[in-house]
Amino acid sequence: MRTYQMYIDGAFVSSKTDKTIEVINPATKKVISHIPAASNAEVEEAIASSKKAQKAWEALPAVERGNYLRKIAAEIRANAKMLAETITEEQGKIISLATVEVNFTADYLDYMAEWARRYEGEIVQSDRPNENIFIFKQAIGVTSGILPWNFPFFLIVRKLAPALITGNTIVIKASSETPNNAFEFAKLAHKVGLPKGVFNLVSGSGGTVGNTLAGHKDIGMVSFTGSVDTGVKIMEAASKNIIKVNLELGGKAPAIVCKDANLDAAVNFIKNSRVINTGQVCNCAERVYVQKDVVESFTKKMVEAMKHVTYGNPMDTKVDMGPLIDEKAVHNIDGMVERARKSGAKVLTGGHIGSNKDGFYYEPTVVTDLNQKSELIQEEIFGPVLPIVTFDTLDEAIEMANDSDYGLTSSIYTQNLDIAMRACREIKFGETYINRENFEAMQGFHAGFRKSGIGGADGKHGLEEYLATHVVYLQYDLKKNF
Ligand code: NAD
Repeated sequence: MRTYQMYIDGAFVSSKTDKTIEVINPATKKVISHIPAASNAEVEEAIASSKKAQKAWEALPAVERGNYLRKIAAEIRANAKMLAETITEEQGKIISLATVEVNFTADYLDYMAEWARRYEGEIVQSDRPNENIFIFKQAIGVTSGILPWNFPFFLIVRKLAPALITGNTIVIKASSETPNNAFEFAKLAHKVGLPKGVFNLVSGSGGTVGNTLAGHKDIGMVSFTGSVDTGVKIMEAASKNIIKVNLELGGKAPAIVCKDANLDAAVNFIKNSRVINTGQVCNCAERVYVQKDVVESFTKKMVEAMKHVTYGNPMDTKVDMGPLIDEKAVHNIDGMVERARKSGAKVLTGGHIGSNKDGFYYEPTVVTDLNQKSELIQEEIFGPVLPIVTFDTLDEAIEMANDSDYGLTSSIYTQNLDIAMRACREIKFGETYINRENFEAMQGFHAGFRKSGIGGADGKHGLEEYLATHVVYLQYDLKKNF
């Protein structure tokens, strides 16, 4: 059994309240560690530490700030096995995917470090003679990052790297379900000598720790990834001090499969969407619309593919899928499938809680005979369940795809360029993938429409979320004789 400490002002500390939270391995239901449950006062200490450190950090040349990011990336690569095992143990994703997450995280730090010499302000024309207007891009100040459990390690740096390279400091709160990897990250940041206070890590409940990080007057921006319901609470807390919010919330990605699509590719990518991380990915296809002419063939192939998906202990390199995050998730998903069944839907494969009772498992499931109003089509499932709806015309498919509170990602499978381009114009989502899996690039921009969020992450546009715009008007007198 491990006990972790928070990382505040360059030191590893326990909570003075002595309150702890148990962390569970979802594949065994066993307690694997205890983490501190911070008090409000301790979160305040972390914020004060980040505030104190910010001025000197911003004063460092960006390229030196980037060097710290590169050093952390190197430490991550050197410890990749331990980090991947830590993630798998507490989150349940299969070990090969955890390894991808770890390596991608290191690459992301390197990528963000490259921005050191690249982000720029502007000089614009003035309406007056002898004047320059400078648009400076400067740090916001102290930022906070509140994380979910599904890609817990990567999400640390998706927030920390753009914050730090642009001269901000950051206080991070890991999810209480998956905090161990964040404590391991803190050890690596400490090892490379990141100046104290530049990054602080606190742990505890959302209502206490998260709420303070979202609403404190010394926080300039709160970057949150998680559910819509918590996003609403973050906005409420932030509103008290008019704090900038950056929200990456849920998704309900539609996949449209047209009659001319490469069906085998579509089946493979969409099946993987429901299997990767046991379907607990905000950007993956969660509902599929298939054109009438090919629905029978698509469904047959999909059921076959899902029947071959294996699940079990995620440390076992032979399984395709690990457990869900907790018992609540299993019952939520089971309830949704049961309600669909009762309202006349057909469950073609799966549809039950996993037979392996050691962990929180659910069977790979395919459901048909649903309509647009069905709960499985409207609500986020976050599990290995694929609902299929049939469409006749492209107009109909686009209308159903857009009929959602969420607007994060979407995809379309077609060989016809006209159809693909129409979809790009008419599908109202932050991302659209054409003939490929839903997986964003670090140089893109991951952002959702509607209730999927405000602002976004990655690439140049994600970096700019962490920059404040400061305009300076400089008048000078060229005629004066000095
Ligand atoms: P969650 O909203 O339950 O929790 C996220 C974090 O918020 C946790 O650290 C939690 O402790 C904290 N929190 C809880 N209440 C709070 C409060 N009142 N104030 C401040 N913080 C609070 O989400 P989750 O269950 O960890 O993650 C799953 C959700 O995240 C899904 O809806 C998924 O779609 C979404 N997600 C979105 C993206 C994206 O990029 N859009 C990425 C990953 C996950």
